[in-house]
Amino acid sequence: HHQEQTPVILPPAMLGMLGGGQLGRFFVVAAHEMGYKVTVLDPDANSPAGKIADVHICAAFDDKGALLKLANTCEAISTEFENVPADSLSFLAETKPVRPSAYSVAIAQHRVSEKNFLKHAGLPVAPFEVINEVEDLPNDDSDIYPAILKVARFGYDGKGQARVKNQHEAQTAFAQFEREECVLEKMLKLDYEVSVVLARDVQGNVATFPTSENSHLNGILDVSIAPARGRDAISHQAQKLAILVAEKLAYTGVLGVEFFVCNGELLVNEIAPRPHNSGHYTIDACVTNQFEQQVRAMTGLPLGSSRQHSSAVMVNLLGDIWPEDADSAPEWQVALNNPMLKMHLYGKQQARAGRKMGHFTVINVSRDEAIKQAMQVRAELK
Ligand code: ADP
Ligand code: MG
Repeated sequence: HHQEQTPVILPPAMLGMLGGGQLGRFFVVAAHEMGYKVTVLDPDANSPAGKIADVHICAAFDDKGALLKLANTCEAISTEFENVPADSLSFLAETKPVRPSAYSVAIAQHRVSEKNFLKHAGLPVAPFEVINEVEDLPNDDSDIYPAILKVARFGYDGKGQARVKNQHEAQTAFAQFEREECVLEKMLKLDYEVSVVLARDVQGNVATFPTSENSHLNGILDVSIAPARGRDAISHQAQKLAILVAEKLAYTGVLGVEFFVCNGELLVNEIAPRPHNSGHYTIDACVTNQFEQQVRAMTGLPLGSSRQHSSAVMVNLLGDIWPEDADSAPEWQVALNNPMLKMHLYGKQQARAGRKMGHFTVINVSRDEAIKQAMQVRAELK
């Protein structure tokens, strides 16, 4: 087994991050704690990560000058956003280590290449059809209906998805998506959903975080419970499948793998080439959180322990609970009164329905107690 011979990048080196959202912001925090500096590239002047980075390059992800500056001033580069152009990553990789690779990101950013990759790797996925033109939509005899039409590129948080009962509805939805390439996926009756976040280092060592159990509202993650409840066989199998995904990609970095559990069987839903929302519980409940693992993987360091020291329940805070008045915030007192609740607000200026503004995590020795307290606070905030 050939081991990649790359020098370890130690603090206070400058690290480069593509994307300035909340994932990038947590990365900056983790890197700063370890003594690294960070340059963030993001086109938004007010991006959550850009605001706290050492250097913010405010430019588009395909701006050659900006990419050159990143390559010339940073010792390694990673991404928090799967929709950065894979070509930008390839360009950066000519000069500096880019982890994860352009190849891994290219697969994860396109639902067709993602599904084909998973299928060829022998991983179970939901039945699907690739839709390039309206003629590709199966007729009503097909047992794919009811189905979900998903645009192949740039979808997130349930955006770019339409639930369709038949060919006619699929045609309407396809037209609404301006005939962009799509996948049509069978609508499954889910028992529940889980995810696995793992890190894989330059040497190929893997550290897997405990499987979390996720519930979604309107296609957006709402609550994650970690470890997942009473489903040890499923949790263990999910970790094995996630590791298989990482190995087949020859992946370096942090990887999130979402699963459906359907009739007691695991299906891979999608993969994220970056830390994952369902891994936010690791910030408060694990020895090493997913963002520190991201720093470690990209710098060539060995991974930290991903051992979980407390049960945890994470609740997303969406813009929906913000008051209409632009200057006011929800009443946080109820949340902050709980001494086992860790609040994380992302510093986004504009609240919008469905926009992830923050999250909180309740930790406890007892998972049931953490669930109870988190649900109480969630109910009072909504
Ligand atoms: P996104 O990129 O927006 O996260 P996903 O494909 O993960 O897109 O879909 C978001 C959520 O919608 C899933 O977590 C799941 O709750 C639901 N969903 C997606 N596809 C299916 C399906 N084929 N059957 C049932 N539910 C689905
Ligand atoms: Mg998803």
